[in-house]
Amino acid sequence: MQFNFLQRLFGKRDRPPARDGSPAPVAVKVVAAPHEPLLDEARALLRGVGAVALAERVRVEWHSRMRSTAGLAFPGRSVVRLNPKLREFGEAEIRRTLLHELAHLLAHERAGRRRIAPHGVEWRRACSDLGLTDEKRTHDLPLPRRTVARRHHYRCPACATVLARVQPLRRGSACLRCCRAHNRGSYDARFRFVKVEPPV
Ligand SMILES: [Zn+2]
Ligand SMILES: [Zn+2]
Repeated sequence: MQFNFLQRLFGKRDRPPARDGSPAPVAVKVVAAPHEPLLDEARALLRGVGAVALAERVRVEWHSRMRSTAGLAFPGRSVVRLNPKLREFGEAEIRRTLLHELAHLLAHERAGRRRIAPHGVEWRRACSDLGLTDEKRTHDLPLPRRTVARRHHYRCPACATVLARVQPLRRGSACLRCCRAHNRGSYDARFRFVKVEPPV
């Protein structure tokens, strides 16, 4: 079951070439694509907590224009939108995000016309009913926090290109672009990088 789920999730869907031998059509970039296996999963989960009407209406889609947001819920339209980048983080993260967003839909469904806080007590209850415990109130992708500071900045005296580096340059390093443009690619001391202060 688990494996099947993964296979459906990550399985290739390459189109076969056309019969006349012409190449397969280039994939058109899809902004919002429905996702059947996740939809089945969402429906089963919602039915499991008695939200039968919502289970019928719900839609799950991958949305290619999302940046660092892992997922979004649109209670008014019963839509869960997922960031395709989630696939890089594995099945568990996709499922966690799906549950987080479904909990938003479920909380709104239960609240009816009553207004509720996005990540309030109703949402937390919906999370735990759907089997999601200790969920954080964030929609950010689990991107690694570690970023290495590029503390060494250099400028080419000729073309003013600025390099930002983690490691310092070797002494006397020259701008490749200018060496190529003005000295047939050979080293030229005129284009040696000059150390500059990093921007604040
Ligand atoms: Zn949320
Ligand atoms: Zn240069």
